[in-house]
Amino acid sequence: MGERDSSNGDVPVTVDSAATGSVRAPDDGDSVVEGQVYDCLIIGGGPAGLTAASYLGRFRRRVIVVDAGQSRAKWIPVSHNCPGFPDGISGLDLLDRLRKQALKSGVDFVEDTVCGLHRDGADFIAQARSPIHARTVLIATGILDTLPDAPDVPDMIATGSLRLCPICDAYEVIDKRIAVMGPATPAMKKALFMQAYTGDVTVLVPDAPVELDAEARALIARAGIDVEKCMLDSVHPSGNQAGIRLADGAVSTFDTIYPAMGCTILSKLATDLGAQRDEVGNLVVDPHQRTIIPGLYAAGDVVNEINQIAVAFGHAAIAATDIHNYLSGTERS
Ligand SMILES: Cc1cc2nc3c(=O)[nH]c(=O)nc-3n(C[C@H](O)[C@H](O)[C@H](O)COP(=O)(O)OP(=O)(O)OC[C@H]3O[C@@H](n4cnc5c(N)ncnc54)[C@H](O)[C@@H]3O)c2cc1C
Repeated sequence: MGERDSSNGDVPVTVDSAATGSVRAPDDGDSVVEGQVYDCLIIGGGPAGLTAASYLGRFRRRVIVVDAGQSRAKWIPVSHNCPGFPDGISGLDLLDRLRKQALKSGVDFVEDTVCGLHRDGADFIAQARSPIHARTVLIATGILDTLPDAPDVPDMIATGSLRLCPICDAYEVIDKRIAVMGPATPAMKKALFMQAYTGDVTVLVPDAPVELDAEARALIARAGIDVEKCMLDSVHPSGNQAGIRLADGAVSTFDTIYPAMGCTILSKLATDLGAQRDEVGNLVVDPHQRTIIPGLYAAGDVVNEINQIAVAFGHAAIAATDIHNYLSGTERS
């Protein structure tokens, strides 16, 4: 799996020389402390990274979050399955609350991209605009969705005519006219999931010879779902709906289209250090969110295919507590 580009953000990191320290008092903490060896560097400021930051801050650890600012949660117009928000919450509002909560516990936060990570004895040095020295690292970098190359995709996500995650929001499209588009096998799997919500599901596959594997053929036979060939990148808004050009040139419309086009799992910083991936590309961790590299942890979408905010929260709580215990067991004088 590839890594995103490593362009930098616009907030400087000023971490130079070594200093030790394990616990500290909470402060307002919205800037980098110079000359610091952090107890934990958290790479990624989405729901996983920010939740872990709050926990570790409240464990009185010296923590820095470095975030490139592309959380998937930013795309969520309104989430109705995020625990604790019965009337829904937008992704931006949720991220804002999580960040405020983390900052209240005294963590440092910078907008930047970590483009390399290596060992320094038992510690880690991260390459950002300035090197960041930390005793442990939590990888919370998430994934990048593969989306149709069409200009209106962001607007369509905002209005709900394009949705990415049936676990998140299929409940919002009960009895609607739905399409799932992408390579045949993953699209069929998503379409089968949608059948519990609506009887009107179409699978849209690329306008090319459709290579159905045996599993996909069996799924089609069982479900009796319509399969159409289409031009994936022709997806566009059509009033409140989504339109797409079919192989015969006609335009078909749906209340919502779900892409099933895969993603890039942003695991390279960890795998370059020797952390393992599973066959899908997710980082492999133990029940405490530890990779096989001592002191290197991972949480959220980069670990688990159930890409959910609640899963990110759970991973983060487990990882942060284990990081705190690991640090206590390796305390320096
Ligand atoms: C349209 C949409 C709707 C969704 N709706 C829901 C919903 O209703 N309910 C639900 O539970 N889930 C929903 N999700 C999924 C949810 O957004 C994710 O599961 C969640 O954001 C994962 O959190 P995370 O912290 O693991 O990763 P992310 O939120 O993706 O955060 C990862 C962060 O790491 C940063 N990063 C990556 N690489 C680096 C690097 N090298 N250096 C520094 N920073 C880096 C990224 O820029 C990003 O800010 C939705 C997702 C989408 C796209």
